[in-house]
Amino acid sequence: MAARTIAELDLQGRRVFIRVDFDVSYTPAGGVSDATRIRATLPTIAHAIERGARVVLAAHVGRPKGRSKPELSLLPVAAYLAEALGRDVFLTDEPAGDGAKKVVNDLRDGCVAMLENLRFSPGEEANDETFARALASYADVYANEAFRTAHHAHASTAGMVKYVASKGMGFLMDREVKMLGKVVGEVERPFVAVIGGSQVTEKIGLLESLLGRADTICLGGAMANTFLAAQGASLGRSLVEAGKLPIARAFLAKAETSGVRIVLPRDLAVAEEATSETSTIVAAARVPDDQAAFDIGPESVAELGALLSRARTVFWNGPMGVFESPAFAAGTLGTAKAIALVIGGTTVVGGADTATAVERAGVRSTLTHVSAGGDAALAFVAGKKLPGLAALET
Ligand code: ADP
Ligand code: MG
Repeated sequence: MAARTIAELDLQGRRVFIRVDFDVSYTPAGGVSDATRIRATLPTIAHAIERGARVVLAAHVGRPKGRSKPELSLLPVAAYLAEALGRDVFLTDEPAGDGAKKVVNDLRDGCVAMLENLRFSPGEEANDETFARALASYADVYANEAFRTAHHAHASTAGMVKYVASKGMGFLMDREVKMLGKVVGEVERPFVAVIGGSQVTEKIGLLESLLGRADTICLGGAMANTFLAAQGASLGRSLVEAGKLPIARAFLAKAETSGVRIVLPRDLAVAEEATSETSTIVAAARVPDDQAAFDIGPESVAELGALLSRARTVFWNGPMGVFESPAFAAGTLGTAKAIALVIGGTTVVGGADTATAVERAGVRSTLTHVSAGGDAALAFVAGKKLPGLAALET
């Protein structure tokens, strides 16, 4: 039931529809402010061009909510791409319609068209049948290169695919699936998962699925506060999801019966505000009433380091603290460095903010994989079936 890659598909002279992730932001002057996502898809696009495909690119930018918004046009992206590829990129006036149909029909082999922002149409996010069929009418071959939206069943990621005979993954998508797959199936043990960040609600599914696979789960960040509170610790003014205490207790009980070790922070860096420039280290159970925890403390980092040094497989999502502020970055940067020291093992990182933290710690190149997949990566590691991937199965 595996999906093929674009390298295995016959592209010559065919209209190859590639769903790409070009969700970038624009500078006030109307340029692309960070082109990393665009550049990452160049190998797939170049491959299609070289094989003589008539390339039809489809993407979204921002949240136009089903309405045409000139400031969210893909025009700056098309201009950037034309420059990067050294050839014309013909942008359509609408994501689907007579104009788009004409541009696609007029394409010659090796040429590139780009549909206007898919989310200008309400049919995209609603996975509307008519819109899906319109998109499919521009495609002889379908390739998905937008892993970051693969957890959504939208017209361009799921609905249209059943109407296209030949389908597969772009190179980026393939790499994400292979690399994230390293922490989903059979893993080399010990498998240590480190989960932080700010939302218990969003990540409880991930935590529960890890109970079935990980040997040790280390919790940090605001996430850990809720679990500490569930054990009766005083957290002062720390961010605690009070409504989630029962879920946290149930999770801790389940971990105990499944024999999975849960490691909570021993000490915390506290201050009055997240904007404070200094912090105090306190025992995890004793945050003063007028203070809040914004990072894990040095003893906790040392314990994490010791656990990680014995790990053969590591998955990390969620910063250990408010790492955006230098006063509360030590726990997160220390964790990143400890993971980078897992030599010869498999180290996989997911989550948008966590990827930024890894970059800041300067350890990206020493890790097995840092996913660019955001929430889609977390859903994948939680063992969920992503609609965008399921649609590609043959
Ligand atoms: P990711 O994007 O990697 O999945 P999250 O979005 O879940 O990560 O969490 C990142 C955010 O969590 C960061 O903005 C960070 O400031 C915040 N955070 C981490 N620890 C704390 C804490 N103790 N208190 C408040 N916010 C926190
Ligand atoms: Mg985030």
